[in-house]
Amino acid sequence: MKAQESLDILAAQISVCTKCDLYKGRTHAVPGEGPTHAEIMFIGEGPGASEDKQGRPFVGASGKFLDELLSQAGVTRADVWITNVVKCRPPGNRDPQPIEIATCTSNYLENQIKIVNPSIVVTLGRHSMNRFIPDAKITQIHGQMQKVGKRFVIPMFHPAAALHQQRFRPMLLEDFARLPAQLEQARAALGKSKKKISKK
Ligand code: URA
Repeated sequence: MKAQESLDILAAQISVCTKCDLYKGRTHAVPGEGPTHAEIMFIGEGPGASEDKQGRPFVGASGKFLDELLSQAGVTRADVWITNVVKCRPPGNRDPQPIEIATCTSNYLENQIKIVNPSIVVTLGRHSMNRFIPDAKITQIHGQMQKVGKRFVIPMFHPAAALHQQRFRPMLLEDFARLPAQLEQARAALGKSKKKISKK
């Protein structure tokens, strides 16, 4: 089966998923989106109100800032995959619970990562980071690329953090500005060459 077909099947399963209680409050599940074999995958926490309405990741206030951060890294949404650890909106935007994260990632996120096979996973926020680097402190390791299994992970602050507290803004902008060089480094280490932007 082609990679895009497998991603489409996962998205269809996510849209009707009832494996945890988060489905009870959703309008739309948010599977994620991007080119089939993106080199970079961004993983946020979970959909907010705007994402739940539209079924697309990072389309609200955090998404606007994410777009600005992406341009700081010289990329656009068309170049990267964007998704979340949980695919349905936690009620009132509360933190996703460990059981919700475990259920959603083992059924969906892990498969999405395997299929897209990005060289770099950028985690946005600590829930996403802890899925890859348990017990790490984001204040200590943000922006630092590390090898996790067969790819690289770069933990970053969640864009929403900068909307709530100005001091996170320069840190996020600096971390994103380093991404192009880190991608070069990751490509060299993994023996991958620069990809053309893939078509769906
Ligand atoms: N915050 C997230 O973590 N994900 C989204 O998709 C939107 C806001």
